[in-house]
Amino acid sequence: MTDELLRDRGRPGRVARIEPPCVTATPAQLCTGLILGLPGLYTYCTGCREKLREGDETVVYAYRLAERAEWDFCRCYCRVCAPTRHEVPTLGVAELLIRAELATTSFVHTQSHRLSLTEVQLVAYCPPEEGGER
Ligand SMILES: [Zn+2]
Repeated sequence: MTDELLRDRGRPGRVARIEPPCVTATPAQLCTGLILGLPGLYTYCTGCREKLREGDETVVYAYRLAERAEWDFCRCYCRVCAPTRHEVPTLGVAELLIRAELATTSFVHTQSHRLSLTEVQLVAYCPPEEGGER
C-alpha cells in the first residue's frame, strides 16, 4: 500500500481505490509451472490426437482478449503438428505460441499430480493491434 492509500482511509467520505497491480513478465515467466488441462498425466495433440505425456515436447497456443488480464491456454500440439507462427492473427487479441517440455507437478496437500509446463520458450507472439476481425 502506498502512503496515499493509507492517508485516504482516514478521511470520511473518501474511498480508497485499490487497483490490481500491473505486472510485466516474459512468456517463460508467465508459463513455467502452468498446469495443463484436466486432472491426469497426459493431454492430447489438437492436430492428430496423439497422447502427450511427461517429457514430451509440446507447442501451446494461448490468447488474451485486449480488455482482459488473464490468458487462456487452449491448444497443445505434438512436434509434428506444432505451428511455428500465427496463421490468421485476430484484431483485439494477443496471441502466443510457446514451446515447452511437459512435466509433472505434485501437490502434497491433495496427494495428486498434474501435467505442467517447463523449459518454456517463445515461438511466436502477435499483439492485439495486428490482424483482422473474424
Ligand atoms: Zn499432433
